[in-house]
Amino acid sequence: MTTDFYTSFREPAAVRAVAEAIQARATRPVRLMEFCGGHTHAILRFGIPDLLPANIVLRSGPGCPVCVTSAADLDRAIALARVPDVILTTFGDMMRVAGSHAGGKSRRDPVTLAQAKAGGADVRVVYSPLDALQIARENPTRPVIFLGVGFETTAPMVASAVLAAEAEGLTNFYVFGTHKLTPPATRAILNAGEVALDGIIGPGHVTTVIGSDAWRFLPEAYGVPVAIAGFEPLDILRAVLALVEMVVDGRPAVVNAYARSVRPTGNEAALRAMERVFEVADAEWRGFGTLPASGLHLRPAYARFDAAQVFPLEVVSAGEPPGCRCGDVLRGVIRPTECPLFGRACTPRLPVGPCMVSAEGACAAYYRYAPVESRS
Ligand code: SF4
Repeated sequence: MTTDFYTSFREPAAVRAVAEAIQARATRPVRLMEFCGGHTHAILRFGIPDLLPANIVLRSGPGCPVCVTSAADLDRAIALARVPDVILTTFGDMMRVAGSHAGGKSRRDPVTLAQAKAGGADVRVVYSPLDALQIARENPTRPVIFLGVGFETTAPMVASAVLAAEAEGLTNFYVFGTHKLTPPATRAILNAGEVALDGIIGPGHVTTVIGSDAWRFLPEAYGVPVAIAGFEPLDILRAVLALVEMVVDGRPAVVNAYARSVRPTGNEAALRAMERVFEVADAEWRGFGTLPASGLHLRPAYARFDAAQVFPLEVVSAGEPPGCRCGDVLRGVIRPTECPLFGRACTPRLPVGPCMVSAEGACAAYYRYAPVESRS
């Protein structure tokens, strides 16, 4: 695909036409949540709210995998990194996310992986679990652990890495998996009823893997329409228009507004790899607590790759960073700018919570792109 192909999704006349269609159809207030942190960044970066009528409200959701990783899982990852000889590998965003700040720890104990690294732990940033696999090949006498965070988008890559390690007979590669499934989080938000929603902008990358049929429960069980969106201005506006039409007409359904990437049944090869290596299990989410059947654990057949089982550690965890409202932001209960620490005690340079650290975090998006007046 050429640059021109992508530029066509930013073409001003086409963008204006869809924005005008939304204006014409939005005859009642419509409250939408964009599940995905990538959408939050795109929406603010492209100034989408300025193109929408005032009666359309957008809220960010829990679609930032780094942000929803619990402080307890961070604590365990830090403890794993400090096991002698271990090389802990992870995505760059995870380095500055804080685990627990209390819980019987000494003041000198690290609360981030970056601090653990500064204290002598061998923590390495990788771009893919396959990079971690390569480090394991190059260091056969040392345990190499990949800290796996992410949704259905990254889980297939991790599954492929485990299958490759199995095929090669690697005995020093492990995964500390905190993978999560997106539909259960959406269900939890709707069940809790903390935030009124008329429709959901569905995650484009996740749905490329799981398929748009995976979201049919939203209209069928909750009467909430969903439109799957890509990440260009036209993608997002077309999804918003589809949602506005479904809300106004009272016809909730699943609309695929990202057809160049998403199919109804998803990516069968990726789903097969996930299914082979992982089984569905309960998972702890920052801001949500434990959600049933919302995570992925390695199947018993792959237990030898499971860092949590191979390195059982006693880890004491206690709560989230003091004052951080990241959990409320992730559930859509508040906007980032409503957190008292936003832009004051908490900035991208000195972040308090993960929503300000991650490239997909809502607080980081608002700090970077939202108008200055909205920060007050
Ligand atoms: Fe947490 Fe900072 Fe966001 Fe407040 S602004 S919710 S402290 S990450």
